[in-house]
Amino acid sequence: MGIFDGEGSRLYFVQNPDAGLRMIIVLDDLTLGAALGGIRLYDYGSEEEAVTDAKRLARGMTFKNAIIYRLSHGKLSHGGGKAVIWAKKKDKTRELLYAAAEAINDLGGKYIGGEDMNMSVDDVEIMLDKTRFITGIHESHYRGGRIGSGNPAPVTALGVFEGMRSCLKFVLGTDWMWNRTFLVQGAGNVGMEILKHLTVRGNASRITVTDREESQINKVRLMYPEIKLIQPENSDDIYDMECDVFIPCAIGGIINDQTIPRLKCKIVAGSANNQLLEPRHGEMLYERDILYAPDYVINAGGAINVAMELQPFGYNHGEATELAKRIGPLLTQIFQESKQTNTPPEKIADRMALAEIEKFKEKNF
Ligand code: NAD
Repeated sequence: MGIFDGEGSRLYFVQNPDAGLRMIIVLDDLTLGAALGGIRLYDYGSEEEAVTDAKRLARGMTFKNAIIYRLSHGKLSHGGGKAVIWAKKKDKTRELLYAAAEAINDLGGKYIGGEDMNMSVDDVEIMLDKTRFITGIHESHYRGGRIGSGNPAPVTALGVFEGMRSCLKFVLGTDWMWNRTFLVQGAGNVGMEILKHLTVRGNASRITVTDREESQINKVRLMYPEIKLIQPENSDDIYDMECDVFIPCAIGGIINDQTIPRLKCKIVAGSANNQLLEPRHGEMLYERDILYAPDYVINAGGAINVAMELQPFGYNHGEATELAKRIGPLLTQIFQESKQTNTPPEKIADRMALAEIEKFKEKNF
């Protein structure tokens, strides 16, 4: 029995002191099906912080999964939810993961977890020993009656790249990339995959990359000697640089009161979750005539990838990439509606996601 928060979500608090587990599972909206959303392991400052993060992330998954429902014409049908484990990374033991898996089992399939911050494919494989309500196992691995989808970053990056093409076409009239400038914040899993696309279609000498980690910067230098780099100590200089497309692929909240006046880009289109610190920051971008690709739409490729693993015939990479390619046309539709109604794109995306849920209710309840 969960606790209703008065805003439509149901919260489950799990404590298993023997395993060192403190976990919060949030079921946000189950209209479209079982809640699908990753498990984040993070050393929060307080329980309140953990609850706030879990609720915000679960809501985000409701919107993202509704968009995926639309993109897949109802084939991938999941509600929104998320779990957070309040622990230090070093305390992530097999015992803790087993206890978390058992807590997920107690919800009887209402929640399906997966990877998120500090939770890897290996951790998911461990949890699969105890629960089938988990997704994102190793690629091509056959376990628990299904084929693993592996690292979602390549499909996420493909969706971001296709989305970026739509942005360029909308703002500049063409998705030709050779003469365009790009700034990539974060050369991690997704950032590195995006560079593969950008260096094929674009001009490496017009790409600038930064990361907080020296090791990631060195990786980019080795793979793409022509790409310009901003060293970790100056990584925030990226906000002041002129470019066509700013591609946030690191952390959330980077579009805020401090950064918006500094931005000299035409487009913000990246994979990071929760890029806008607050909803009003989307309006500020809109007023500055900077096109923002709503994050949960442009980065939906990763969730598409893990959701495919749960399909009756198992994971199909070709189908996952086909669905991720639909992100571009959907964004074009969002931008057109945004222009027609003089409304920021993220508001159009929210409406679109909620409309999918309402349509489903009308048809099925
Ligand atoms: P990652 O941890 O592999 O990479 C993030 C990189 O950003 C790291 O190299 C880190 O050092 C760097 N970084 C952190 N803070 C920074 C800062 N302030 N400035 C510059 N660099 C910074 O993560 P990822 O899997 O590549 O995901 C990137 C973002 O995309 C995250 O916000 C994630 O939630 C989101 N996302 C990822 C996927 C996916 O498939 N992996 C899917 C959807 C959304």
